[in-house]
Amino acid sequence: MCRHGEEIVRIEGVTKEFFCSGGASFNVGRRCGRIIGNLCGCRRGRFRGKSRGRSLIACNDVSLTLRRGETLGIAGESGCGKSTLAKMLLSMESPSKGRILYRGRDLTAMEGEERRRNCKNIQMVFQDSLASFHPRMRIVDIVTEPLVNLKFLKKMNREAKALELLETVELSGDFLCRYPHTLSGGQIQRVGIARALSVNPEILVCDEATSALDVSVQRNIARLLVDLQRKNGTTMVVISHDVAFINSIAHRLAVMYLGSIMEVMPTSRDVNRVAAHPYTRALLGSIFSTGMDFTKAIESLESEAPSALDIPEGCPFQGRCDRVMDICRFKKPTLAPLRGEKDHLVACHLFDEGGSLWG
Ligand code: SF4
Repeated sequence: MCRHGEEIVRIEGVTKEFFCSGGASFNVGRRCGRIIGNLCGCRRGRFRGKSRGRSLIACNDVSLTLRRGETLGIAGESGCGKSTLAKMLLSMESPSKGRILYRGRDLTAMEGEERRRNCKNIQMVFQDSLASFHPRMRIVDIVTEPLVNLKFLKKMNREAKALELLETVELSGDFLCRYPHTLSGGQIQRVGIARALSVNPEILVCDEATSALDVSVQRNIARLLVDLQRKNGTTMVVISHDVAFINSIAHRLAVMYLGSIMEVMPTSRDVNRVAAHPYTRALLGSIFSTGMDFTKAIESLESEAPSALDIPEGCPFQGRCDRVMDICRFKKPTLAPLRGEKDHLVACHLFDEGGSLWG
């Protein structure tokens, strides 16, 4: 049995590649496919034109660990592969290469009943929980559905269990018979958390779970997640483009860029001071605050990230890095401990000799 702080998930060299062949179809309707096709060179939900025959690398040789009872935050810009990584953790996608071990068992090797039973161990809270709920189901049915499906709960006991779950997320029993569209954004996310917690998962993955909420509601949900973790010891993976939000609730921060992990560090120290990778520093430098000095330039994040269809050889960040060197053009830096600190990993040639340029 795992003790607190022990490694429970090991992601080993995971790559996820999507092939853009003429035969691959999107999971969209015909009309929707045509609209998307007009925008990105695809027709009727099929990849065509420039994308055809090419591959999109959503995650590129990602290695990470997750410890029992911790909150691991994954930050990065939209399209950097953080949600694909979360989906692989939930077995919603399979890695093209590498493996994901949960308590030593390879998730990709699980099949049938074992795979179905394992679903309860890792649950997810989505950005748009409302879209993931059936609009004609009442809250009492939504929060208890996973338990009923897994045959852990008899339908006659639904109401009592739903009350207990709503109480966990600080919602009253008045919500039991309401429909999702009558709830506010914050209430919907609380219901999403209650549903995910219903099967008592060991790991809770929150994918941009607060991004669509007002700042004050975001703060309440963040507080709720921290309280739940302290009380239940749930291990959490929090995914967000907002590095400040992650820094405020996570124990460790992993920064992703174009499918690769750039830096992993503990948040117990002042991340603004200890962050080493140029991309992490640029992300931190671009956080808005009321006391912000607008006369100070932010660090080199002016251009857009290149397409995941065109990941350059060498360092993925080379096109936006103002410290780029010749070696960065052809050799991809590996994620390695910075100055021998095993908890602080960085993938950048500036630190190949284990040094620091930032003081
Ligand atoms: Fe910049 Fe080179 Fe470091 Fe990449 S490896 S972040 S291009 S210095």
